[in-house]
Amino acid sequence: MSTETIPDAVKQRTFKRLLAYIKPYRAAFSLSIFGMLGYAAVDTFFFSQIETLIDDGLTEHNPKILLYGAIFVPLVFIGRGLFNFISTYFLNWVGFRVVTTMRQQLFDHMVKLPVSFHDNHSTGELLSKITYTSQQVAEASSRAVLVLIREGAFVIGLLSLMFYHSWQLSLVFLVVGPLIAKVVSVVSKRFRQVSRRIQTAMGNVTTTAEQMLNGHKVVVMYEGQKRESKRFSDINNVTRNQNMKLVTSQSLSTSVIQLIASFSLSMVLVLASFPEMLTELSAGAFTTLLTSMIMLLRPLKQLTTVNSDFQRGIAAAQSIFEVLDERPEQDTGKLVIERAQGNIRFDDVQFAYGDSDAPALDHVSFEVTAGKTLALVGRSGSGKSTISNLLTRFYTPQGGRILLDGVDIYDYKLKCLRRQFALVSQHVTLFNDTIANNIAYGARSEVTPERIREVAEQAFITEFTDNLPLGLDTMVGENGVMLSGGQRQRIAIARALLRDAPILILDEATSALDTESERHIQKALSRLQQNRTSIVIAHRLSTIENADEILVMEDGKVLERGSHAELIERQGAYYQLHSLQFNGGEL
Ligand code: ADP
Ligand code: MG
Repeated sequence: MSTETIPDAVKQRTFKRLLAYIKPYRAAFSLSIFGMLGYAAVDTFFFSQIETLIDDGLTEHNPKILLYGAIFVPLVFIGRGLFNFISTYFLNWVGFRVVTTMRQQLFDHMVKLPVSFHDNHSTGELLSKITYTSQQVAEASSRAVLVLIREGAFVIGLLSLMFYHSWQLSLVFLVVGPLIAKVVSVVSKRFRQVSRRIQTAMGNVTTTAEQMLNGHKVVVMYEGQKRESKRFSDINNVTRNQNMKLVTSQSLSTSVIQLIASFSLSMVLVLASFPEMLTELSAGAFTTLLTSMIMLLRPLKQLTTVNSDFQRGIAAAQSIFEVLDERPEQDTGKLVIERAQGNIRFDDVQFAYGDSDAPALDHVSFEVTAGKTLALVGRSGSGKSTISNLLTRFYTPQGGRILLDGVDIYDYKLKCLRRQFALVSQHVTLFNDTIANNIAYGARSEVTPERIREVAEQAFITEFTDNLPLGLDTMVGENGVMLSGGQRQRIAIARALLRDAPILILDEATSALDTESERHIQKALSRLQQNRTSIVIAHRLSTIENADEILVMEDGKVLERGSHAELIERQGAYYQLHSLQFNGGEL
């Protein structure tokens, strides 16, 4: 996110909010500032002793001073090291505390955000907020604080030292210093610009190469070699150009800065050659002045980046607070139920996703009595999954009512309501854990290994795990990469069996499978459907012929309804779909 687009008022609010994160750790934070000030003081003190060393030690030939110096130098560095440790340690201590707090808050908040939020934000974007952006907040702001206080204090110390020795010569620096600072700040702005462009360009290089590699077959089939090569060559050259720009500004700026510094040295030398100056200035004072001038360059350069670091930190914090400010899923329901009977009624329900004009559900009404099976069929995009999304309160209808056992589902406590459903869909989410633990994920309380084994048998999981050395304790790999589609599906079914909810929703639970595996899983599914209210969204019509009622959906409307026999007899849309599939086609 670019910092320019955030209004100042928002930046201020973000800054205050960020301060609140540091507040609990103010003792450690103060300690670290103390360390920074101490560090700058030691450095200034060190340079102030140059005069004594040169004038009293070398010019006056006093060996004692040199010996004192021998003890003095290590002592100074012990102090410097101590202050450095204190400042770095405590600054990072506070920084990492803040990062940890933010990460936890983000994680906990993201779980609570409604499904609509997650549908509208990519996983990559949200992940990078948890991992990267939170770290950016601490890194950028820590750096800003460190430079501002430590280097700021050092600059003040050196300037005081210079003015103490000769205000006339110090004035030279006051003229030249800002000039150098200006050059540095212009250059670093340019740097950031170019670096950002290099980042984008590198991204394009990767994307273009990836496209060719992934689409290699298509490229060679359609003779796209030349086109792809040209595309890549353009992007490749952009990257080179940007890199060269970076090198140019880098080397030019160094020369310009050195040139300005050399002018200032000439001016100092000219001023020092005036007779009244010559008598007044000792060799030591003169050396102190020159050394201080040179020493000032580095902190000044760093100070010019404080603002941009700070802005980066604020922008990162802002992007985190945006997520934290999203409203979590609302739950005003009060009614507590242990186990519903399972009577479901949709009463003239209307619903559209987001700002979409076209309704996903258009005045839909139906009823399923407890223990019965309702099947939903229709083209993809006709609104079948939406019905399941509304039942589980992932989304809220804009009109009409949805009743469970005669009570509006929004009157139930959300937790109680969701417990009434077991959902098996085409996409099975598996956690990187054992098969047994993945099954147990659906359970509401502790389950015994015997019970897990029982449902695993019912879902025909043991058929393939019994051949594995670790059986049900086999790890499934990240998101179940070690398992086939049918095996994953069976784990989802076992999970649903264990959950033992009164209402079952099967959303194209078997559509990813071939007919052979489907037949197998169908047995497990019918077992799951016993004594439950089921809503079955079907892909193959053969699987729902026994449903008590079938709704044929189209464009969010119920086109036809009735039993299989009735619908076939009517010779309408269902009949057409059925004959299509009967002749070997699929929906
Ligand atoms: P089906 O399950 O019958 O294939 P859906 O109920 O998933 O259809 O979708 C119904 C309509 O709503 C489609 O036009 C689809 O594009 C749209 N839709 C589905 N999910 C979302 C969503 N998360 N955001 C916006 N539109 C959606
Ligand atoms: Mg669907």
